[in-house]
Amino acid sequence: MTKIDFSQINKIAAKSFNQQRNVIKRLAKGQTVLCEQCQQPLTLTVLSEGESGVQCNKGCTQINLELDI
Ligand SMILES: [Zn+2]
Repeated sequence: MTKIDFSQINKIAAKSFNQQRNVIKRLAKGQTVLCEQCQQPLTLTVLSEGESGVQCNKGCTQINLELDI
């Protein structure tokens, strides 16, 4: 179990909306996007209508966006 670096999570969360949106769009098209931290594939989850979540297995990348894909 890797210790979670919250400062890193905040840094990722501060990334531009467009960059996050691009990641989600690529995932929605079935493309593979790797976590910048652990290099594992990110998975896309539809949380509710219009809201999507992206995370990796380790949780170092976690993006929640309200987005129409
Ligand atoms: Zn990761």
